[in-house]
Amino acid sequence: MRVKILGSAAGGGFPQWNCSCANCRRLREGKFKGTARTQAQLAWSSAPGQWTLLNASPDLRFQIEATPELWPQEGTRHSPIRDVIVPSAEVDQMLGLLLLREFHSFRIHTTPSIRRILTEDNSMFGVLARFAGQVCWNDIPLDQPFCAGGARLEVLSLSGSFPGFVSSARLAELNPAEAVIGLLISPELGGGMLAFLPGAACVSDALLERLQTCDVVLFDGTFWSDEEPSFIPGVTRTARQMGHLPVSGSGGSLERLAALRRARKIYVHINNTNPILDEESMEQRMVRDAGWEVAWDGMEMTL
Ligand SMILES: [Zn+2]
Repeated sequence: MRVKILGSAAGGGFPQWNCSCANCRRLREGKFKGTARTQAQLAWSSAPGQWTLLNASPDLRFQIEATPELWPQEGTRHSPIRDVIVPSAEVDQMLGLLLLREFHSFRIHTTPSIRRILTEDNSMFGVLARFAGQVCWNDIPLDQPFCAGGARLEVLSLSGSFPGFVSSARLAELNPAEAVIGLLISPELGGGMLAFLPGAACVSDALLERLQTCDVVLFDGTFWSDEEPSFIPGVTRTARQMGHLPVSGSGGSLERLAALRRARKIYVHINNTNPILDEESMEQRMVRDAGWEVAWDGMEMTL
């Protein structure tokens, strides 16, 4: 099973259109040692010519064009994309669905709560229901493994919350456990296991134990420190309050996941303000010295 990281940045990407933090500014000036990154997006293939998307990022059109395996392979209208997994209703994880509206049939796998937010509260998603069978919505069960795109998937419950745009009336009807899900992914016919956790506010002992069985852990690399978001104008919450365990500090992911010896550990969903993007920074050196990798667009692995 081939897995490709098509996008490795957090919401907004790197550089972010309205940001002139030290990272974004220096990247635009050509003075930054490191690469631009699109918003978090994964894809995997278990069979030739068949691909599954994990996340549906706002950069999806660009990410597909940057990946020849995802180009049309046969006829005048075709796409190897058969399945899309949507792990939250946040804009940077679902907006890309609207970019797949050109009369292509595919399956969307998500929780019932996320499906209701998208299809019942946002009439724009009618662009995916223009003909019978355009999109087939499959509910992801929280309590048992399920199959999609030639892989076996298991939900890791995370303590995330629904997006701020969801009305309080709707929130009252939804299951909070279905707001944000992490996933364990392995080939249906055996092979390694990958954990996808781009938004994790904490690591419970149970989660840590589960990750010990993984071969690859793609973990929340949004912020370096808990207070990093407070330097962003308009943001008043800490990293943890935003649902992202910081990399550094007491109880941060570097410390909390130090016990993970088996897995290849990779930070994904990296915010443009995070100093680990800078290949010459002390922070990136600390991460590398601790055995971590920093994801980049186009990174590929085999399970
Ligand atoms: Zn920035």
